[in-house]
Amino acid sequence: MQGTPYDFFVQWHLTERCNLRCRHCYQQRLTDEMSYDETCRALDNIKGAIEGWVTEYQLEMSPSLHFTGGEPFLRRDLFYILAYASKKGFSTSILSNGTLITDDTARRIKEAQVRDVQVSLDGLEAVHDSIRGKGSFRKALQGIENLLSNSIDTNVNLTVSRINVDQIQGLVRLASDMGVSAVAFARLVPCGRGEQLAADMLTPEELRLLYNNVSKMQASSKIVVTSRDPLASIPDMGEDIPQTEFPIGGCAAGVFGVTIAADGNIMPCRRMNMSVGNIREESFRKLWIESPVLSALRERSSYHGACGTCRYWPVCRGCRAVAIACTNSDGRSDYLGPDPQCPYYQTV
Ligand code: SF4
Ligand code: SF4
Repeated sequence: MQGTPYDFFVQWHLTERCNLRCRHCYQQRLTDEMSYDETCRALDNIKGAIEGWVTEYQLEMSPSLHFTGGEPFLRRDLFYILAYASKKGFSTSILSNGTLITDDTARRIKEAQVRDVQVSLDGLEAVHDSIRGKGSFRKALQGIENLLSNSIDTNVNLTVSRINVDQIQGLVRLASDMGVSAVAFARLVPCGRGEQLAADMLTPEELRLLYNNVSKMQASSKIVVTSRDPLASIPDMGEDIPQTEFPIGGCAAGVFGVTIAADGNIMPCRRMNMSVGNIREESFRKLWIESPVLSALRERSSYHGACGTCRYWPVCRGCRAVAIACTNSDGRSDYLGPDPQCPYYQTV
């Protein structure tokens, strides 16, 4: 995922509850969800940190909150939370499996001035249903239609593995015909239930092929075809990569944003599954500055292996979640090591 220093975001998992049970989901267990009041206090906590940065560093910021789950539409107070976030000046997005978005829900999303909604589609009907459960494809498509008929900016996300890499062209065609604004791809991270699918991860060469194809599809498609994977933009990068000791693009984890889990735990990225503190008890601003994990993610000298010596480090750093997931099995959980799916390493 990419951002700029001023485009700070929080991916906020309001619940771990879900009406589906997808094979690749990173979820591990249900947790003690923050209540509406706790969520509002946490929002105030983040707002305070942002106001401090704006005043102290004279920054112009456009903070956004990406609400998700589990399935966020299972939170009965979702629209109250959206209203509170918007009152506090945050731009809001929703990430959903789409299956619970009725016409009435879509109308309320519109009224809540949600910037955009991302719906997960993991292929065409048979493949999507084999990953997400029978009937889930048609329900997700109905959800997308309801969003579009209420004039809501809607995009589609596919988590890529060998199971569905051949579905990409068909999905882009379908999305384009339906009128969604963008199709994006994320890599399968073998954590949570997704650990069972580790053998279906793409090899570095398969990944290279995929991102070459994504570039070609973008050139010939009337909708945006993209990936938030830092590796996806490497093929289109010129020769002139600024050699900074701090990130200027690439993996967002702990750099351009964080994740807040349903129980208030703060993680660099939801797929990294490592808590750096809890917003129920701690100051967000203090954690953001003082967390040794977040600091390490921002410093080139903390990295080792290929990423630490690569000229793309300032704009890439690979997917830290893939790095950690692929070293969990031998007990290292190495979040600063190489990205094992990378085909692009070049020495500085
Ligand atoms: S080695 Fe790491 S920093 Fe370099 S291109 Fe690969 S993933 Fe990115
Ligand atoms: S760890 Fe991976 S999934 Fe998370 S922000 Fe970085 S690139 Fe994206």
